[in-house]
Amino acid sequence: MYKKNAWEQYDEAELAKVEAFAAKYKAYLDAGKTERECVTEAVKLAEAEGFIDLDKVIREGGKLQAGDRVYRNWMGKDIMLFIVGSKPMQEGMNILGAHIDSPRIDVKQNPLYEEEGLAYLDTHYYGGIKKYQWVAIPLALHGVVCKKDGSTVTIAIGEDESDPVFYISDLLIHLAADQMTTPASKVIEGEALNLIVGSQPLKGEEKETVKANVLKLLKDKYDIEEEDFLSAELEIVPAGKSRDVGFDRALIAGYGHDDRVCSYPSMAAVLDYEGTPEYTLCAVLTDKEEIGSVGATGMGAKYFENTVAELYNCVHGYCALGVTRTLQNSRMLSSDVSAGYDPNFAGVFEKKNAAILGRGVCFNKFTGRGGKGGSNDANAEFIAQVRAIMDDANVDWQTAELGKVDVGGGGTIAYICANYGMNCIDCGIAVLSMHAPWEMISKADLYEGYKCYCAFLKGAKAF
Ligand code: MN
Ligand code: MN
Repeated sequence: MYKKNAWEQYDEAELAKVEAFAAKYKAYLDAGKTERECVTEAVKLAEAEGFIDLDKVIREGGKLQAGDRVYRNWMGKDIMLFIVGSKPMQEGMNILGAHIDSPRIDVKQNPLYEEEGLAYLDTHYYGGIKKYQWVAIPLALHGVVCKKDGSTVTIAIGEDESDPVFYISDLLIHLAADQMTTPASKVIEGEALNLIVGSQPLKGEEKETVKANVLKLLKDKYDIEEEDFLSAELEIVPAGKSRDVGFDRALIAGYGHDDRVCSYPSMAAVLDYEGTPEYTLCAVLTDKEEIGSVGATGMGAKYFENTVAELYNCVHGYCALGVTRTLQNSRMLSSDVSAGYDPNFAGVFEKKNAAILGRGVCFNKFTGRGGKGGSNDANAEFIAQVRAIMDDANVDWQTAELGKVDVGGGGTIAYICANYGMNCIDCGIAVLSMHAPWEMISKADLYEGYKCYCAFLKGAKAF
């Protein structure tokens, strides 16, 4: 089945749209390097488009009707956007889902120490990373420090050109004879991911003078004590902005394409929706996918179901069976990045079922590992509906598996949403170097993803 390259169908006007959308995406990517920052940006964008806070509606005992636009910020780490449809919610929603957490390195709870004139923060990595990729590159520190008095200090250091950055050292090649022959999983051990944060002693101190200086700077600038690390969430990410790649600037290298390259266009499709939809529309951007969708902000929690119940109550008045039917009868694109076919590593892919960069948005009937283990396996009936929607809207799309059978595998949030009995398919954008500090995507695929989400919101229907 031949698929053409998406770039071939664009005229000048369409090329300008591809570039304009990529510019907006890059701005979001640069502003949102953590799940919290992504939510903060999303709230700003949603309020600018007239979305109101569902929690405010709930507090005031307000009612909602067709055409109303609301968002819900869950713990500052998840966000859901809704546009109430003209049909009863029981006929199901058209849902776009994606995640906004990305692989990174987290700071430990008791992190600060000094060793031979260098001050370090000890870390614990988050998600699946090749640890050796995170050394000897400029790193930034983002997050929050929550203090006992109830206040929160927000931190973002290393992104502004005038900011300092942080650094994890690697072994010099001259002394690396043993290291070079160890397995890649052991080249840099988890406990070697120690972040250098200072090297200048505080004058007048007797011992741990560099650590003392770091603590003084933290106190002066942020009013933080060492104990405040105990209630902090500090994330170490690559420093710097996303960049165009290639003479033709058709690709983007950036941190956290997984899965902001799906979550941004999913959100944008709802924000840009004009008028009152037939079915209630939803975008849910979730946290903790990279570590198994666990915890109170992971898709495995009940926050989404609970929020749908709250929405249902505001629209129709509460009815447990109504909420059950709303979830069960919904249609969902669960979007997460696909493994882009990489000619440098052709051996792990089966080419005719691989995601090719530039061939548009990608649908995965199933993910999982081995014999589809742990996968959501989308219904053929639903895929047929999606095919028709995509072709009618002139969306460039392809289908793919995550590599050759039995080579590896992975999961997404799709199976969790499918637990309600809703029709759900994995969908997303091809990425090269997935989970590396700098991942890469195609601007054409990003744009086709956005077109895909817009078309799905308009076109998906109850069975
Ligand atoms: Mn992902
Ligand atoms: Mn991932």
